[in-house]
Amino acid sequence: MCGITGFTGKGTALPVLMQGLEKLEYRGYDSAGVTLADDKGLRTFKAKGRLSELRKIVENRELPQHTGIGHTRWATHGVPNNLNAHPHTNSTNTISLVHNGIIENYVSLKQMLENNGYVFQSETDSEAVVHLIDYYYRRFQDMETAFKRAVRDLEGSYGLCVISTYAPDTVFVARKESPMILGIGEEGTYCASDAPALLEYTRKLMTLNDGDIAVLKPDHIALFDAKGNEKKEEWMEFPYDLQLALKVGSDTFMEKEIHE
Ligand code: GLU
Repeated sequence: MCGITGFTGKGTALPVLMQGLEKLEYRGYDSAGVTLADDKGLRTFKAKGRLSELRKIVENRELPQHTGIGHTRWATHGVPNNLNAHPHTNSTNTISLVHNGIIENYVSLKQMLENNGYVFQSETDSEAVVHLIDYYYRRFQDMETAFKRAVRDLEGSYGLCVISTYAPDTVFVARKESPMILGIGEEGTYCASDAPALLEYTRKLMTLNDGDIAVLKPDHIALFDAKGNEKKEEWMEFPYDLQLALKVGSDTFMEKEIHE
């Protein structure tokens, strides 16, 4: 379980994502990546090793997109390399996904998807989820419906963030047994696997409840329970300063991770 960041709003997504991933570096990771979305398409950049390697790849590019997702990976399925690094995309490069956790039933999902003509690029469990969302998108022709339907098929633990050219100003988020914080501010809406990634931008935060789904738009977030019923958001003003938030209630980062 490592780091996730997501953003959609008025501002430029890349600095928000990179900054957030930096704040999550203390958790350790073996590779990092981002995808940015607009109506022209998805652009994904990944690098094995430190976040500074990813920074070298993105820093001199024109990347003004307002929606994106980022990831630092701690490999559980497949070696640490560029192909296994997240985000993972579908074959038409229209849907991109980052995942923290382990999809326990990925073997049977992969089998079903391969039987339906899907070709896998990586050794990860996570890649099955992006193809599964594609599979349901083809059936329902609607990203929100496809995302919610795909999440219902998953067993195991997951923090998921998904973006798509089919809904270029939206971040789809779900979590089970893996942490996920949501945020809302002047510039847009945010998600991250831990609060320090967001505190630079907003203090209006909430925890996504286990099993719930969030749909982030530039100026609001819709919440749903596992059955798809809409829920009311319950925001709180985060009171701590950044240093404290990094290890709130624990003496060390390791202790904090064990509590989580
Ligand atoms: N199980 C996934 C993988 O091996 C996600 C690992 C993580 O949580 O970073 O790619």
